[in-house]
Amino acid sequence: MISDHFRLTARQKVALGRLGLVTAEDLLRYFPSRYEAPAKECLIRDLTVGETVRVIGEVTAVKVGRGFKTKLPIGEVTLTDTTGQIKAIWFHQVYLAKKVFVGNFASLRGKVTERKGEFYLANPEIERLERLPDSSGSLFTDAGESELVSLQPVYPETRDLSSAWFYHAIKKLLRLGLAQKLLDPLPAEMLARYHLPALVTALVWIHSPRQESDAVVARKRFAFEEIFLIQLDRARRRVTYQNQPAHRISLPPDTLKSFIEQLPFPLTGAQDRAIKAILQDLARAEPMARLLEGDVGSGKTVVAAAAAYAAVRAGDEVAYMVPTEILAQQHFESFIANFAQLNINIGLLTGSDCRKFPSKISPHTHTAISRAQLLKWVANGEIPILIGTQTLIQKKVRWKRLGLVIIDEQHRFGVMQRQRLVGQGKKATQPAVPHLLSMTATPIPRTLALTLYGDLDLTLLDELPPGRRPVATAIVTEKTRSATYEKIKTELKAGRQAYIICPRIDAPDPLKALALNVKSAKLEYERLAREVFPDFQLGLLHGKLKPDDKEKVMADFVAGKIKILVATSVVEVGVNVVNATIIVIEGAERFGLAQLHQLRGRVARSSDQAYCYLFTTDSPNIPRLKYLASTKNGFELAEYDLSLRGAGALAGAKQWGISDIGMEAIKNLKMVEAARAEARELIKIDPELSRHPRLATRLQTLATRDIHFE
Ligand code: ADP
Ligand code: MG
Repeated sequence: MISDHFRLTARQKVALGRLGLVTAEDLLRYFPSRYEAPAKECLIRDLTVGETVRVIGEVTAVKVGRGFKTKLPIGEVTLTDTTGQIKAIWFHQVYLAKKVFVGNFASLRGKVTERKGEFYLANPEIERLERLPDSSGSLFTDAGESELVSLQPVYPETRDLSSAWFYHAIKKLLRLGLAQKLLDPLPAEMLARYHLPALVTALVWIHSPRQESDAVVARKRFAFEEIFLIQLDRARRRVTYQNQPAHRISLPPDTLKSFIEQLPFPLTGAQDRAIKAILQDLARAEPMARLLEGDVGSGKTVVAAAAAYAAVRAGDEVAYMVPTEILAQQHFESFIANFAQLNINIGLLTGSDCRKFPSKISPHTHTAISRAQLLKWVANGEIPILIGTQTLIQKKVRWKRLGLVIIDEQHRFGVMQRQRLVGQGKKATQPAVPHLLSMTATPIPRTLALTLYGDLDLTLLDELPPGRRPVATAIVTEKTRSATYEKIKTELKAGRQAYIICPRIDAPDPLKALALNVKSAKLEYERLAREVFPDFQLGLLHGKLKPDDKEKVMADFVAGKIKILVATSVVEVGVNVVNATIIVIEGAERFGLAQLHQLRGRVARSSDQAYCYLFTTDSPNIPRLKYLASTKNGFELAEYDLSLRGAGALAGAKQWGISDIGMEAIKNLKMVEAARAEARELIKIDPELSRHPRLATRLQTLATRDIHFE
């Protein structure tokens, strides 16, 4: 436990908890985000204001007290060398002054500051030395024993825990030999294979590198370890899942053909290939675990419909889960269109609505029914396809023979929710698990997909239906803003609808927002309604609205009552409003390219010309936006963003729960592929990890800590 080694204030304890740091190992695995170049060693006589320096000498005074006026705690140490003396003053972390006593030797590292003609070092690093370094050569020749490191690690700070706190705390743990006590989870052969340092070495190198290459090698090891562990977790999940039995679902080729022929359009080549791959999976007695990844508008729904059709024909039931009520409604309707002539009952289950198709009265419409009635029909198999929101994973929902689970916009659901839904098909009398088809439109780089979705097989839908015109994308600066509003008015008058996306919900400080020119959805909604589009009905949508209000606004937009929807990026998820052909993105430079692309996808829904206006004031970012304007493919954009701005820039980087160091690996395809191959191989030979207890323990630890292992 960290608290066994340090005296911690209550607030520091809270801060450690916030970072998820509990054990000494956790702290040792808290890595610097960067290193500062070595400070110039200086004699006190030679100091100049503004320079960051290191001075070495004898402590001649120590004082801890309170500021004369401010009454805030202040620590002071006076250091003397052969040429003069200088004060170090701590306004924070006053306890640092207590690390040394008069008569000790010490090294101070900090910035030379001046007040009233007197020089001092403000909040410097301080280190006690056993003796003064050999005064003959350089101060640093005698590196063997000296505690001085030439590269200064800088740790990510948080309230109540500064970089210096981490530096000293970790240093102490290393000095106590705690790193040596840790067991390296990675097998020695594996380390040897990739020329990676062992755990202890890597810990020492990452926290106190003698040279930059030490840190680089150490970071590489931890990056590999993290990706390998995620892969191992996924590989194990995959084996566990696939070792369970599943129903064989096969669809005779001519039945498939007649299904395809009754669709309102011919399939794209990519849709055709995806359907074939899925049908092959379904025909096996082991459950499918497949991810269908396709750009917005690539037509995933019909692929899902084909899989659902195969299941229903084989006498199985299908659960189709989507993140919002509106999406559930839309999919319900497109399923009805896809199955119009096939005489199949379809149900809709959301928090507020229960429906059945066809209605008793007419074979072409659906009708509201009671929840109890709907659940009864699902339980006895009379409604073989049930589409809904998270309500599908409630205990009340029972199935007769659930054979296929489809999850749309799967990134919106956690692994737990996925497993709950899949788990619903299983009964004591019937051990089979359903096949799983997951779908997503989030274009992410291949390395990230391979890592995060290591438990799934990947199918890409990399072709848009014919006749789609690319969204005309233009960069708009302040100069062309009003001309652009006029263009939008013309489209609106022709009956079109528009989205206007703002980076924030409301401005915490209106003046600041004004100065930075950051539009907030609330203020912008008022301004546009009053000054720009007084003749049109506007709506406001953001994440802080109650779910019901959100649904209401969205429903009005879908119905065309609202012409202009002012929103934050909550509209990202796959709502299909065919009549909306304009999207304006305010502060476009603040969004990641993949996210901009997804937003743009909102209007790529019909064969009519659609427009995306990227409003920006920030000229340095314009090359990125230009790239977006010229590229239509989401995957290319994601790769470009990753290479240009690093993984942190990818939309949702945090939600994936990969650390900054792990993200370094994501840039390296070779490393990701190696980690994946190693993980799969190891699980093949040792699925229970019984011969790798350290790996099992480490996975267990992470499972209880980290979100990405859920
Ligand atoms: P997404 O992949 O974003 O979920 P959808 O399944 O919602 O895409 O499809 C977007 C639109 O394209 C829908 O209106 C759908 O009917 C239409 N569509 C899908 N496949 C084809 C196709 N092969 N030819 C023409 N239109 C298609
Ligand atoms: Mg979709």
